[in-house]
Amino acid sequence: MSSIKLEPHEGSGRSKAVARKPLPVGSIIVQCQAHATVLLPEVKGHRCDTCHRISPTLQKCTGCAAYWYCSVDCQTLQWQTHHRRICKRFAKYTASLGYQALAPHEKLDALLLSHLVAQLEDINDARLATVTSLLPGPVESPAPPISCSPRIPESVVRETYARFGNNNFVIHSHLTTFGHGVFPLASRLFNHSCLPNAAAKYTLSASNVPRMDVVALRDIAQGEEICLPYLDPALLQSRQQIFQLTYGFECRCPSCLFFEKVGPIPSPPTDTIQRDELALKLTQFIKATPHDGLTLTAATVSFPNDLLPIFHESFVTYVAQTFRDASHDGPYATALSSGETLLALYRLIYPPNYPQIGMHLLELAKTYWNSIVSENMDLASESAVKQECRRYLKDAKDILEIFGVEGDEDGPLVEIETLETLLQES
Ligand SMILES: [Zn+2]
Ligand SMILES: [Zn+2]
Ligand SMILES: [Zn+2]
Repeated sequence: MSSIKLEPHEGSGRSKAVARKPLPVGSIIVQCQAHATVLLPEVKGHRCDTCHRISPTLQKCTGCAAYWYCSVDCQTLQWQTHHRRICKRFAKYTASLGYQALAPHEKLDALLLSHLVAQLEDINDARLATVTSLLPGPVESPAPPISCSPRIPESVVRETYARFGNNNFVIHSHLTTFGHGVFPLASRLFNHSCLPNAAAKYTLSASNVPRMDVVALRDIAQGEEICLPYLDPALLQSRQQIFQLTYGFECRCPSCLFFEKVGPIPSPPTDTIQRDELALKLTQFIKATPHDGLTLTAATVSFPNDLLPIFHESFVTYVAQTFRDASHDGPYATALSSGETLLALYRLIYPPNYPQIGMHLLELAKTYWNSIVSENMDLASESAVKQECRRYLKDAKDILEIFGVEGDEDGPLVEIETLETLLQES
């Protein structure tokens, strides 16, 4: 906390976190403990319900048969924090009509709310005050039924739930989401930007709940506001609506000001050939433009009008899908061209050093490597492809080393090392 201070935010009741001193790129700005977390259904029984680490030998809670732990310590910790108030009621609760009627994301919220409320001793509990001191969302939705007791009045549960939509975070490992969490300190400190100068990563350790580390993505000057992304900035058309409906604010970041200036984004062509031409034009434009400061901001004056359809969400989705489909087993020409287009898009949409750019650079390097392994190349082309592979790997490493290690063991930085060794030995 000593590296930041809270100041009033111009023109709103909110506050903002500003750097008290210069913060170098890659530094951890603040660490926040989770007040409550919940695992996505697809990783239940695969990750420990307390520390969220992956373990092949999880032990099931014999009381409810619905929570899994990697150790006695993890089980004891969760029992004392909230599970003792949930275990016996759990089966009846999840079978109830009220719970069954919920949509999947509401079920997740209901469990998270249960985990949070079950921790409260009474309504004077300090943890409750921490949560209710956060700003509520703009729309009050009815709180879902929860699995713990009526010790805590319904009005308090509702008040707690009103903070969920706009304050909770997704928890990820190697940038893949596996759960949701309540981190009141991070919610209180950081405002959103679509071009954030910081990002959240998670540390998982034995017998502990997950911890959020907020990392500086670039050098941050003294007095500069520190922002996090509340959602994926690549949701180019839907993000403003989500901000208004879920968060109750209008984003005025340099990227949003750019899109306000250019107006509605024209639809991309539906014809595949025309769409590929558009993609080619984009990569040519990027190659002809210097890399630094390529991210689009309101200050960008010279963006060609005929390229605007690339910012249509449907175009971003199309390119990402094409790359995903072809990057593992080919055709590699398709994978590499769509991969280049996606990289160009990410560089325009995301701020410099954004971890998703690093992950994509690694995917591109792996795709180049796969093409060497599976295609018969003459020595000259092989050496050219290896050079490309090395270049992407280096760019990936530069970005991902800033973000640092996240979540489970291994991960992208280890993958980079392995690929580097393969390239050296081949
Ligand atoms: Zn554990
Ligand atoms: Zn249980
Ligand atoms: Zn924005």
